[in-house]
Formats: sequence, C-alpha cells, structure tokens
Amino acid sequence: MKIRFDRIILVLFICSGILAGGYYFLTSSNLEEAEIEEEIEEEPANEFAVLSYYHEELLDDYIAYQEANSDYSLEDIVTHVNMGIDEPFYTSEAILVEDPYAIDVLVNKVYCFPDDFVPEDLVYVDDYRDQQMCEEAALAFQALNEACQEEGFTIYAYSAYRSISWQQQIYDNMVSIYGEERTNQTVSKATQSEHHTGLAVDVSIDGCDYNYCHESEYYDTFYDLLEDYGFILRYPEGCEDLTGYTYESWHIRYLGVDLAKEVVASGLTYDEFVARQ
Ligand SMILES: [Zn+2]
Repeated sequence: MKIRFDRIILVLFICSGILAGGYYFLTSSNLEEAEIEEEIEEEPANEFAVLSYYHEELLDDYIAYQEANSDYSLEDIVTHVNMGIDEPFYTSEAILVEDPYAIDVLVNKVYCFPDDFVPEDLVYVDDYRDQQMCEEAALAFQALNEACQEEGFTIYAYSAYRSISWQQQIYDNMVSIYGEERTNQTVSKATQSEHHTGLAVDVSIDGCDYNYCHESEYYDTFYDLLEDYGFILRYPEGCEDLTGYTYESWHIRYLGVDLAKEVVASGLTYDEFVARQ
C-alpha cells in the first residue's frame, strides 16, 4: 500500500494541534483555579472573625460599636454586641428566650419569658414553707444550707420564685414611688426577672437582713461554697453595665455544678458567658 507523505504530515499536524489545544485548556483552567484560590486567601478576614463567638450577621453592629468605643478590646466589642448591650437597656423590644424551662436559661434586660410562663416543678424550699424553687434547685439550696450549717451559720431563702403577675405589681408599685428610670436600675420588668425561673433566690444569712448579707462575717465562706452546690452570684460588684443591675450580694442563681464552676472559672458575668458560647 502506498501511503502519501503529505497526508501523514497533515494527520500529524492535526494531532499536534489537538494536543497543544488540550494542554493549553488544562493548564489555563488550572491557572485560573490557582488565581481564584489566591484571591480567597488574600481576602482580608475581618478582625472580629477570629473569635469563636463571632456572628457574621452582626458584623455591621460590631463595626458601629467599635467606632463608638475604640478603647474596648475585640473580645468586649463582640461580646457586648452579642449580649445586645451595644444600645442602652430596654431600647429594643425584649427577645423571647428559646427554652424557658432550660436550667441554663438566660433572662435579663434583653431576654424575656413568654407572659404565661410558670416553671413545671416548683416545690417549697425550706421549713418556712413560703418560698418555692424548681425541685433540683431547691434540693441544691438545701444541700448548700447544710454545708453552711457545718461551717456554723444558716442561710434562708428570703425571696425565690416570683410569678410574672406578682413581679408586675412590684414593678408598678416601685414606679409609682420612684419613677421609671430609678425603678429600672433595681427592679426587673415583669417577664424579665430571674425570679421567674424558679432557679434564683435572694438569701439572708444569720443575723443579717438580706440586702446586707455581704456584711455578715460568714459571707466569704458562703460565697466560696456557692459553685460546689451549682450556684453563682448573678449580679457581682462593679458589673452594673454588663448585667444591668447594681451589686446584689444576696441574689444567687442555680445552674448545676458543672456549669456554675465553668462560669466562675471564666471570671465573666453569666450574661457575658452566654454571649461567648
Ligand atoms: Zn433577687
């Protein structure tokens, strides 16, 4: 068979063209991919995004809050915005808590309970039979009290669970005497009191009126025992801007031992702690 030389040349030419085209296609698409990857890597991540508790949808709020508070740390900027305290308390409508029955529920001047919320398992706390808490918290309070008694003093549940309607009466009464602004510094609005949880209690210590219990000689011992029984001090001294409440040496909150210890170890208020989860 006679093969024409010029046809071989033509076939070789076409094949080399296809190979060259394929090579160019492959290498150019790889190049493009590399360029895109480089672009993504070069995209400057915003400085807030390094924090595990950063929420992308709040970026504009972080930026605005930082502009107004340039001396705050990055952690505080993100934490405060997450907490909703980048605007004065009660500026926006309160946000309904997701699970009102949760042992770790956070209720404050930003988060509220539904109007009809009542804890499921209220029991009387102590022998006085007039204060109620959720059963787990009541048992923990009794255990805490036994530990206090071993140290030589007794604690009393001065005020524990409060219904939403009762809190409304307290609030209205205080407003009629002191006006709204002053009342808001010390008294919770109905649906926003921790006393609705059935997990909080105002404590008095032997011989001290509850709001002077920090003056008791036993106060430090009482305070140190709290976390071992699942309680934290909810409104610490010097944290008014964070909690929205002046120092309350008497108001303790049950969280369970593990969480209480975690919160205490963090050195944060519970409001900040939750905002960093
Ligand atoms: Zn209280």
